[in-house]
Amino acid sequence: MEKRGLKKVLKCVAVCLVTAVAFGALPVAAALTAAYDDSVTVVVDAGHGGADGGVTGKDTGVKESELNLIMAKLVGEFLESGGYDVVYTRKGSGGLYRATDSNKKSADMQRRGEIIREADAAAVISMHMNTFHQRSRRGAQVFFDKSSEQGRALAEAVQRELNAGFNLPDAGREFAPLAADKYILRQSAAPAVIVECGFLSNPSDEAHLLDADYRARLAYAIFLAVDGFLSEGA
Ligand SMILES: [Zn+2]
Repeated sequence: MEKRGLKKVLKCVAVCLVTAVAFGALPVAAALTAAYDDSVTVVVDAGHGGADGGVTGKDTGVKESELNLIMAKLVGEFLESGGYDVVYTRKGSGGLYRATDSNKKSADMQRRGEIIREADAAAVISMHMNTFHQRSRRGAQVFFDKSSEQGRALAEAVQRELNAGFNLPDAGREFAPLAADKYILRQSAAPAVIVECGFLSNPSDEAHLLDADYRARLAYAIFLAVDGFLSEGA
């Protein structure tokens, strides 16, 4: 079998095993054995951290930075189980700045940019939580860089999964991915998206995002979309 064909078969096996893990049918270790070695790197960014907690849950006070980290690790674990190399911008609760930095937010963002540029990744996924003054606004929303067609395509793939699995069944509406002008989306030529997982200003979204099973399902949907997008070009 030619290498390209074999790679596709191994990829299908890996994704099936990840699916089995997601639904509790297999331990993670079994899926890891299916990882193929011609690896592709994905950067997973947990937004905010340290002194910058991001937005706050209206009902519980949960910090966006904490939920972002949990979601980033979940998405990253699914990607690793599917055979990808994952580069995390942060794996702890702290921000990416030094105590001596006078402008911690700026230092934090610059360090994230360095990590993304050094990773030579095929895709960049930045995890965030949303907020809005109208508490009825809810749902998962994906953003891409306004000048990146590949970013738009990746955003459409992720938004499609989130609409089908969450926005339509939970809120009865779809979102279209939105163009944005954000530093984190412009750090490499790789397609990059910001995933706003839900609104911490909405009681239902906040309750869902505090539920471990819901977060796992959400992370798995993001993984499926990213994997499908990257596999198309394989
Ligand atoms: Zn944020």
